Amino acid sequence: MIYLDHNATTPVAPEVFEAMAPYLTDEWGNPSSSYRFGAKLRAALEKAREQTAELIGSYAGEILFTSCATESNNAAIHAALKARPERRHVVTSAVEHSSVFNYCMELETEGYRVTYLPVDREGLLKTSDLEASLSDDTAVVSVMWANNETGVLFPVEKIGEICKARGVLFHCDAVQVAGKLVMDVRKMPLDYLSLTGHKFNAPKGVGALYVHRKAPFSPYLYGGHQERGRRGGTENVALIAGMGRAAELARGKVVAYEAQVRPMRDQLEGSILKGIPRTELNGHNALRLANTSNITFHGIESEALLLLLDEEGICASSGSACLADSDEPSHVIRAMKPEVKSGRQMIRFSLGPELTLEDIGRALDALRDAAAALRG
Ligand code: PLP
Repeated sequence: MIYLDHNATTPVAPEVFEAMAPYLTDEWGNPSSSYRFGAKLRAALEKAREQTAELIGSYAGEILFTSCATESNNAAIHAALKARPERRHVVTSAVEHSSVFNYCMELETEGYRVTYLPVDREGLLKTSDLEASLSDDTAVVSVMWANNETGVLFPVEKIGEICKARGVLFHCDAVQVAGKLVMDVRKMPLDYLSLTGHKFNAPKGVGALYVHRKAPFSPYLYGGHQERGRRGGTENVALIAGMGRAAELARGKVVAYEAQVRPMRDQLEGSILKGIPRTELNGHNALRLANTSNITFHGIESEALLLLLDEEGICASSGSACLADSDEPSHVIRAMKPEVKSGRQMIRFSLGPELTLEDIGRALDALRDAAAALRG
C-alpha cells in the first residue's frame, strides 16, 4: 500500500501503542477513584497533559482532553458564545472543516449572524476582510490554521492580533498543523486551539482543546468533575496516554518534518502538473503545508480515478474524508474557484514521512496510467 492520505488520518506509532497498552490491560481503574488502583491513573493523565502542552507551547493546565477535534471545535465556539451572550455575530471562513462550518450553519438557525470570510483563487484569506467584518456584536472568530483539503495556511498570528485589538475571542482549528509546523501558542494571541490525536500518529477518538488561562470557558459536556469541571465523562486514559506520547514524538520530529515530506510532495506535484495534461493545482504554491497537494484532473471524475488508484494499492482522496461520499466539488474548492460547478475532479494527496521517493515514483506511474485510461 502507498498511503497518500495523511490529512485524513495517520498510522498509530508503535511507541504510542506501547504507551496505551497498560491502560487497556492491567491498569483499568477509574482515574477519579480515591483508592490507589484508580487514583494513580491521574498521573498518566497529567503526564499526557504535559506532553500535549509541550507540543503547542502552552501550560499543562490550559489543556482539556476531548473525544475529537469536532468536539474541541464545537466546545470552543460554544464557550465563547456563552461568555458573550449579548453578542450575536460569529466570524469564520468559507473553507472551514465541517466541524466548524456546519456548527456555524446551525448557529444561524438559532438566530446568530455568521460571516463566512471569502478566500481568493489560491485559498488565501485577506485580513482586511476580517477587519471589515468585525463589529461590537462579534463574539468570536473561528478560523483554521491550515486547510485540510489544500494545505493553505491562514495568517493566524495576525488574525489573533486583530481579534485581541477588537476585544473578540479567537479560536483556531490547528488540527492539520500538529506535527507539521512548530507551534507556540505563548507567542500568539489565541483564546482556544483545537487538536486531534489521529492526525499525528495517535488513535482516533481523542482530541484536545487549549483554553488560554484567561479565556472564558464553560463546559460543552456537563457531568462530573473530570477535567477540573470543564468536561464531564470518565477520561479515556489509554487514548489520552497515547495522544500524549504521540505529541511528544511529534514535537521531537517536527523540525525535520518539512525536509522529509516536501521533496516527495514537490516531485509528485511537479511531475503531475508537467506530465499529465489538463491538470491544475488548487491552493497557493508557497503558503501551504509541505505535505499537501490538491490537484484538479480536468475531465476526470475523482471517484473513477481514486478507484483505479485503489486497485494499485494507492490511497488518496478527493477532499475531506468526512465528506467523501459526495460527488459535488467541496465547499473549499467552490469558495476558491466559483466557476467549478459540478462533478468532483480533484484529488488530494497528503504525504507522510514514512514514504520514499520510490513510492512516489510508483504512485506517479499508476496515476499516469489511470488518467490515460479514463481519458481514453
Ligand atoms: N478540523 C480539521 C481541519 C480536520 O481536518 C479534521 C479531521 O478531518 C477535524 C477538524 C475533525 O477531527 P476529528 O475527526 O478528530 O473530529
